[in-house]
Amino acid sequence: MIYADNAATTKISRAAIDAMLPYMDEFYGNPSSLYDFGQKAKEALEDARSRISACLGCNPRELTFTSGGSEADNQAIRSSAILGARKGKKHIISTAFEHHAVLHTLKALEREGFEITLLDVHENGLVTAEQVRQATRPDTCLVTIMYANNEIGTVQPIWEIGAACREARVLFHTDAVQAAGHLPIDAQAQNIDLLSLSAHKFHGPKGIGALYTRRGAPLESLIEGGAQERGKRAGTENIPAIMGMAAALEESCAHMKENAVKVSALRDKLIAGLSEIPHSILNGDPVNRLPGNVNFCFEGIEGESLLLLLDDKGICASSGSACTSGSLDPSHVLLAIGRPHEVAHGSLRLTINEETTEAEADCLVEAVRDVVAYLRSISPVWRDLESGKAPHII
Ligand SMILES: *Cc1c(COP(=O)(O)O)cnc(C)c1O
Repeated sequence: MIYADNAATTKISRAAIDAMLPYMDEFYGNPSSLYDFGQKAKEALEDARSRISACLGCNPRELTFTSGGSEADNQAIRSSAILGARKGKKHIISTAFEHHAVLHTLKALEREGFEITLLDVHENGLVTAEQVRQATRPDTCLVTIMYANNEIGTVQPIWEIGAACREARVLFHTDAVQAAGHLPIDAQAQNIDLLSLSAHKFHGPKGIGALYTRRGAPLESLIEGGAQERGKRAGTENIPAIMGMAAALEESCAHMKENAVKVSALRDKLIAGLSEIPHSILNGDPVNRLPGNVNFCFEGIEGESLLLLLDDKGICASSGSACTSGSLDPSHVLLAIGRPHEVAHGSLRLTINEETTEAEADCLVEAVRDVVAYLRSISPVWRDLESGKAPHII
């Protein structure tokens, strides 16, 4: 099997598992209990919080644990909206290529009377700080723009966007779920007010994440209950998962540079190989993209058929986001960068990591080339394109 879907989830690391086990079978106390046994769990919790903060360039007091990236996104946006509404500011700026955890939260706020501006995305999958500046109004309460896109891998100019928000005194949230552990993050230096991350995207366990909230920025609890996490997130803390997350993030950050060099070289090799397939196009910026992300559209191909035939060859890939597979709608990200519906339908995302080998990369290119050729050979749409009955788009 070749696993090429690391944007959907990653394999948990040995270090993460080893960090978790003692907190399942030995130190299973509740960190809110007063006796020493519970306090052992409490100490572990605070130790994990400060180690994770060190990787993000923030203070441990600015970090709240959540059940993952989706919850962190929901809480960041809802909290900012509540504060905004109190001040009569009900305008939010975002982009059309955000994760559904962001887009669906914004849709819900729209129904509650907020006005949402989704910035136009350039064909290369990037937005600019200038676009943010132009869209900002006196009643803007939040700008939420993802750090790195989960489908096409593009990395946004976060520092510049943060600076534009700071200048306009508007809160800036970034969904950094794809970036954390893969790209350098310095919440203070990058002018970020709120930032979401999720452990299972950097070799940590599933079901655990965190929200960084700059001191002074608002945080409202989404869950009523106990006073855990300074009253910002009720519920007994998932200590094993939190310990696994800390170990995974530290390990990812320690090897970030060397991994990025290695993985991006392999990524570029994949991009070069797939570009040779006729009527194919790379999605997203060739340079400003995640080290492990490859995303293509192939004309005359159904993404779903491509995935099924790759699966037959033991290849785990995706057509875009794991959240939309199963639905027949083309990716909202590909539509946002201007791909026509019929082209967006033929998309393929391969997301590799530091464990992917050269041999696997060669195998991926060959498999995709063969499957695309086969699907085109049996496609009436392709026959029309080749006979000139319908014009090629790409
Ligand atoms: C995976 C992902 C999420 C959701 O994180 P979960 O921990 O699975 O809830 C949010 N945003 C982006 C960009 C993601 O890739």
